[in-house]
Amino acid sequence: MSSVGPPVIETVGLTKRYRDTDALVDLDLVVSPGEVVGYLGPNGAGKTTTIRLLLGLIRATSGSARLFGLDCRRDVVAVHRHLAYVGGETSLWPGLTGAETLHLLGRVQGSVDVGYRDVLTERFSLDPTMKVRAYSKGNRQKLVLISALMARPDLLVLDEPTAGLDPLMERAFRLCVAEARDRGQTVFLSSHILSEVEALCDRVGILREGRLVELGTMAELRHLSARTVEATFDGPVPALDGVPGVSSVVVDGHVLHCDVRGPVGPLLQALAGAGVTGLLSREPSLEELFLARYGGAAGPPASPGTPSPPSSTASAETTGSRVADRRGD
Ligand code: ATP
Repeated sequence: MSSVGPPVIETVGLTKRYRDTDALVDLDLVVSPGEVVGYLGPNGAGKTTTIRLLLGLIRATSGSARLFGLDCRRDVVAVHRHLAYVGGETSLWPGLTGAETLHLLGRVQGSVDVGYRDVLTERFSLDPTMKVRAYSKGNRQKLVLISALMARPDLLVLDEPTAGLDPLMERAFRLCVAEARDRGQTVFLSSHILSEVEALCDRVGILREGRLVELGTMAELRHLSARTVEATFDGPVPALDGVPGVSSVVVDGHVLHCDVRGPVGPLLQALAGAGVTGLLSREPSLEELFLARYGGAAGPPASPGTPSPPSSTASAETTGSRVADRRGD
């Protein structure tokens, strides 16, 4: 990460209101060069609205959005020289082949790393001789991804880029993002796939009802959920009453399960003095963090960095590792 020059993304009080819908409220966000930032939230949280504001496609109700120090709307042409964008659904020319489409999109991008384009075409197993109309949805998505990646832009703005890709292609995509990061490119990635965000991103922002409710590294977000501990004893299981941070204690024969928040030292001391013979400890996954934020009882919204009870109106659940909105349930 470099501290030289303006941030790649900088929004201050960025707000978009549609009639009676607050699509995005007071977004303050700074993304530095070389960062990979994940942007999560249930359906309708405001992810695409943020991206459309960054791309200069819609006008903010208030606040500002700058990319590379340039105003996203006023300097839209200059801004787009630095970035490539992939959305979930892109309209392409059905009568062109994949190769022709990449050629055309490459002309629009301005510069293409032809060698990398060929690597990507092979990596994504795309047949470039086929007409776009004959491609499946996943193949059309690969084409758009390749066109964005082959430009090696300073900033990749990816709005649910792996929608429609199978697990093998998802893995190919992850490799591409890792390569982009290694080259110092910046990536802003909106996703419903928690494992994808967890694997790829330096920092994660969580949006709810247009508000950024969490922003931090995975380590910083772990305060949302406890670490799980399983300990096995050769004798009786000790009582853990009064051990700081310990909750949800369940004893099953010689095996003890519990959660611990904060420092684990006091728990380890209690276990060590009781003849522990086996110990498993696991950090929460992003999925568990997300459920800790959205998966329980109702509560008021919170500001970034402030854990709060989840709200039933914005509650979400995960199906596999995909975040699903429950409001229509
Ligand atoms: P998803 O995960 O479903 O794509 P999202 O987080 O990208 O959701 P947005 O598309 O940004 O959510 O929508 C945020 C809110 O703004 C939603 O309530 C949506 O209905 C509303 N909204 C978005 N675009 C418009 C529009 N053009 N007119 C009116 N309301 C809109």
